[in-house]
Amino acid sequence: MFHTADPKDIIDGKITDVYFERTLKILEVKGINPLVKAEFIAKSLPEDWPWAVFAGLEEALYLMKHLPIKVRAMKEGTVFYHYEPVMEIEGRYQDFCVYETAILGLICQASGIATKAARFKKLAGEKLVISFGARRMHPILAPMIERNAYIGGCDGVSVVKSGELIGEDPMGTMPHALIICFSSTAEALKAYDEVLEPRLRRVALIDTFLDEKFECLNVAEALGEKLFAVRFDTPSSRRGDFYRILEECRWELDIKGYKHIKFYVSGGIKEQDVPVLNPLADGYGIGTSISNAPVVDYAMDIMEVEGKPLAKRGKWSGSKRVLICPKCGARKIVPNNEDNHLCPCRKKFEDILIPILDKGKQLIKMESSSKLRAFVLKNVKDLPLE
Ligand SMILES: [Zn+2]
Repeated sequence: MFHTADPKDIIDGKITDVYFERTLKILEVKGINPLVKAEFIAKSLPEDWPWAVFAGLEEALYLMKHLPIKVRAMKEGTVFYHYEPVMEIEGRYQDFCVYETAILGLICQASGIATKAARFKKLAGEKLVISFGARRMHPILAPMIERNAYIGGCDGVSVVKSGELIGEDPMGTMPHALIICFSSTAEALKAYDEVLEPRLRRVALIDTFLDEKFECLNVAEALGEKLFAVRFDTPSSRRGDFYRILEECRWELDIKGYKHIKFYVSGGIKEQDVPVLNPLADGYGIGTSISNAPVVDYAMDIMEVEGKPLAKRGKWSGSKRVLICPKCGARKIVPNNEDNHLCPCRKKFEDILIPILDKGKQLIKMESSSKLRAFVLKNVKDLPLE
């Protein structure tokens, strides 16, 4: 059997740290069940990220719909900064106490992956970024991982089931195994071309047996005009100066009249590699860097009890609004009251923590993955990476 929870276990509150279950028991026996507000907040972001993308809301909402609580949250795909609450739950504490572990898990990992993908896409610019990292993670999570990689900015995902979830065709080239089965890159490519539908782009993997330069020329001669791209997955033991390998291959292909052939690169690509390779690469397959992205360490903290501000040490008490100026982009965290706030630029601030759930009733529309992706790309367009 797979060592994963059943979705029903999550909804039944079984994916909980045991101390919440014990807390619930104590509160029930003592008849204590205050009306509280609790917020989800990251006091710092991983790897010194200056901002992050809020993701995982659709799944969190699916879980929270089963509970008699009210929720305000940022829209999925919103950029946030440390100390800004991204979500707030209002309800009787006993009603959601055992769900803290699961709700955090749903947004912490998703936000980390979406943010990492957004950073890669910003670095790559117009060049393709494809999620290739499903194989590094438990397969049951592949659609979740790739959905968040996609909404963060990846142009495509590689897993069939992930493609179904996001409503896009999965993308892929060919594995080394196909070439090894044919004992020849060119023969494998010809078979690929013969068997697969014409709508699929012909991309040859060229690091299996021979030097990249000569293999590039072999596949270019084998397929000519039909060859769309070559993929360099050069093993790290042979990589030396990866940029120089690409540069030399580009030169040789160009000089022989194969300027149309694009270059895809894959294999352990890190953020810092992208600006170096970007002048020569037309696309990236990003694996572990995205699928194993650092999580955003949100915490859930009670900050109001029976309408009165109260929080633990190190946290700001009271329910909050997060405001943003639609004109100049200035942001502000203020107490959650009726006050009007004007930006120094004279424009009225807008709330980005908005009501999304009222005791089972969903108050916002769920957007498609492609719309969320466009929203994220617009939000991060002008932001610095450091
Ligand atoms: Zn302003």
